[in-house]
Amino acid sequence: MNSNPLPKSIYGCSAKPLLTAVRTAFGAVPDHRGEAKVFTLVDSLMSGLAVFGLKYPSLLKFDEHNEEGIIKHNLKSLYGVEQAPCDTQLREILDPIDPKYLRSAFVALHEIVDRQSLLQKYEYLHGHVLVSMDGTGHFSSCKMGCPQCCVKIHRNGLAENYHQLLGAVVVHPDLPVVLPFMPEAILKADGTTKNDCERNAANRLLPRLKADHPELKVILVEDALGANGPHISLIKSLGYSFIIGAKPVGNGYLFNPLDAHVKDGTAHEFEVTDESGVLHGYRYANGLKLNASHPDILVNLVEYWEVKKGKVLNFSWITDIKITPQNVAYIVRGGRARWKIENETFNTLKNQGYHLEHNYGHGKKFLATVFGCLTFLAFLVDQIQALGCPLLQRAKASRRTKASLWDRLRALVTTHYLSSWEELWWKIIRAKEPVIDTT
Ligand SMILES: [Zn+2]
Repeated sequence: MNSNPLPKSIYGCSAKPLLTAVRTAFGAVPDHRGEAKVFTLVDSLMSGLAVFGLKYPSLLKFDEHNEEGIIKHNLKSLYGVEQAPCDTQLREILDPIDPKYLRSAFVALHEIVDRQSLLQKYEYLHGHVLVSMDGTGHFSSCKMGCPQCCVKIHRNGLAENYHQLLGAVVVHPDLPVVLPFMPEAILKADGTTKNDCERNAANRLLPRLKADHPELKVILVEDALGANGPHISLIKSLGYSFIIGAKPVGNGYLFNPLDAHVKDGTAHEFEVTDESGVLHGYRYANGLKLNASHPDILVNLVEYWEVKKGKVLNFSWITDIKITPQNVAYIVRGGRARWKIENETFNTLKNQGYHLEHNYGHGKKFLATVFGCLTFLAFLVDQIQALGCPLLQRAKASRRTKASLWDRLRALVTTHYLSSWEELWWKIIRAKEPVIDTT
């Protein structure tokens, strides 16, 4: 985290400075085209971002509205787009762009969050931040594909092409807003026939995360897929900590020593009932060997059970953080915050207006991944505003659901000439305020 922030007034978390930072980052993306350029690469990327920022269900509809002149005007006033390409042109321009060039836009936005001291809200366990990591699909088809598609052969012999992204997002147990980093594509590498997987993608994502944010003190929270020796060694080599799900079934090497402590009465174990009558049980031991293949890797294991209205839930995690009676509840809450990548990130991106799984165009090179990354980027812009822009917060509070906020936003952008984001948010806020007669 930034220990010596620049004056906050320079930055701000409203749409304009955020999109200006993105635009500046896009300006460094190398242009793959020759001399004849009707549309600039920056305008094309910003137009793509606008599709997701304005929650358009398809590029075609975006283009239809563009014909009317209003959206063209608003693309300029809201996204700084001088000239927007049509849907076909947009796909052709964006397809050859290597998604790695979009990384600097994510970094620029996270730097703003840090400089605004908003990252402090996410501090957990002595200045760390929890980063939840998981994969999600964003394209699958038995008909369409590209050389980078991973392929799954079904029992009936049908071949299904698919693309996935490995996401990494800053989460906090008490905050609904999550902050995604640049996702890592899970795709076949050029010239290979072998499918890529989450573990390989993690091997690429984590060192890049470290390079982008060298000062960030990270506690990774992951599901049980991450509970393996090579992955834990990678995490430790980067100076990160972890809270990773662990399953007792088939994992006796790790869990049996804890059971032995329970039997001889030397385990650390206690239960507490909170103010709402929910019972929380904790049992833990430090310094256990991870598994037979990696007995040199020592981890700390916590078993947790929750009893709420007669219903019992059980979870277990391994961590490199030494577990004490004072921090065990924090470790458990940190481990449970992993779900925010499912609920507050992937679910939002797929079902709350962003259409992550919609096929905007697959392309021959990178298009599907470029669209996927732009969706994450538009989401990050919205999330930062939700965290630090009072106008978006008021607009959001004025609508019953996020869906109705985005519906209203889309309606205004397609029917009104807007001069700025401020005007847009105020129109949404004031539409719900009572009329005051001052005559
Ligand atoms: Zn593909």
